[in-house]
Amino acid sequence: MIVEGAILDRSGVRAGYVRVRDGRVVEVGRIGCDSSRGRERKIRGIVTPAPVNGHTHLADFLSVREPPSGTLADLVRPPDGFKFRLLQSASAAAKRGAMRSALRWMERQGIGAAIDFREEGVDGARQLRDAAQGISVRPVILGRMPPGEVDRTALDALLSVADGLGISSAREEGRDRRRSLARACRRAGKLWALHASEAVRESPEDYLDPIPDLIVHLTRATPDDLAQVQSAGATAAVCPRSNALFGRRPPLAEMERLGLPVLLGTDNGMLRPPTLFREAEFAYVASRLAHRPVSAGFIARSLLVTPWEFLGLPDRAAITAHGPATPLILRLPPEDPEYQMVTRASEQFIVRPGWPGRRGPDP
Ligand SMILES: [Zn+2]
Repeated sequence: MIVEGAILDRSGVRAGYVRVRDGRVVEVGRIGCDSSRGRERKIRGIVTPAPVNGHTHLADFLSVREPPSGTLADLVRPPDGFKFRLLQSASAAAKRGAMRSALRWMERQGIGAAIDFREEGVDGARQLRDAAQGISVRPVILGRMPPGEVDRTALDALLSVADGLGISSAREEGRDRRRSLARACRRAGKLWALHASEAVRESPEDYLDPIPDLIVHLTRATPDDLAQVQSAGATAAVCPRSNALFGRRPPLAEMERLGLPVLLGTDNGMLRPPTLFREAEFAYVASRLAHRPVSAGFIARSLLVTPWEFLGLPDRAAITAHGPATPLILRLPPEDPEYQMVTRASEQFIVRPGWPGRRGPDP
């Protein structure tokens, strides 16, 4: 198949064609210069790398009802918030099933990876690995250690399954414990991540010690806090729809102005389903509602490019012949592709020639 129109990837936006075979890019060039000599199906559209969901708690997909009212703490704070009671009362099989279902939602949106904070120690991390078997979405698992004294054997076991650790917040884990956990991540070449400044402002002196690879939320961070995050070299993940449920919003315009690397995530599965296109549109619209507009280009990069750079896989964000990127093909007008991607894309516009993994929706 030939897709003629626009390419939106790590190099930005350009007009061109992409030839795709078996779900891989085999040729890229100027429109009208492809080697198919008219013998291949040709469509007009946009080609991008696979988007990445930058922050999830997929096991929370156990609950599909309207979330109970209450404060953020009532809903998600360990050890007895609504979500932790939900996790404790569910069997391992039910949790695997919920995560598999969430992963399939993302697979249908062409999402290439999801960076998941997976509670419940090594068992929790294993459940997610198992749930992702045979699905084309790669789970990047940030596991969580049980509270109390750090058990080295349990930590090594967790880091052998997980891609790193993701803690609830610096306020809930003492500095010594954070340092020892982060040190173990560094030694194992794994990621260290936490939530910060979500409901209340926290001091960067706390959450930047030790310096995390990824900081989730920062809804209450001041411009000065963000500048410190930026100079520490950390990446931020923001979840505008989840924040909005509690009357908050991430300071996206300030983040864009600083050039902070930002990922976009859908957060807890019982608050928002992992529908990344809707998250992108909401981020764009909500920034205007707040009179702090962000560009479609910034949001598009936070879906398609920054996450792959964060994961150390920048080539996955480049549409090149025989490169490692899995192309996402959208049958949308190629004019202004960043705007199309952020405000008009949805599952129904995805074209899937020889897509890896499952093809159709669940019956
Ligand atoms: Zn979270």
